[in-house]
Amino acid sequence: MDCIFCKIINKELPTEIIFENNNIIVIKDVNPKSKTHLLVIPKKHIESIKEIKEEDKELMGELLITARKVAEEKELDNYQLHINVGHGAGQIIDHIHMHLNSNN
Ligand code: 5GP
Ligand code: ZN
Repeated sequence: MDCIFCKIINKELPTEIIFENNNIIVIKDVNPKSKTHLLVIPKKHIESIKEIKEEDKELMGELLITARKVAEEKELDNYQLHINVGHGAGQIIDHIHMHLNSNN
């Protein structure tokens, strides 16, 4: 599949991995827009939030919990989480990812 994040998940493309388990990977954004700019990515290839289903409830919860854990580990008190949904909203990569940004 021609998906940059699937290639990163499958270790076909090198990147700095911050956290990984069976379901989620957290990487550094290659073009950081704040001091800390991470991407929290479900390993399951889902194109966008538009495509999530009832069966993805637990995975989407784990996405948020993982963001919270990584932020805690990095001792970030204040941070932003955002998900771009649709190309018109700035989504470039068609594989769900949540941005974690902080100036701490
Ligand atoms: P989007 O605009 O789709 O919400 O966010 C995509 C993000 O992925 C951008 O912030 C961009 O800098 C980042 N990105 C694009 N290609 C790569 C890559 O190959 N490796 C990493 N680590 N980040 C990438
Ligand atoms: Zn993918």
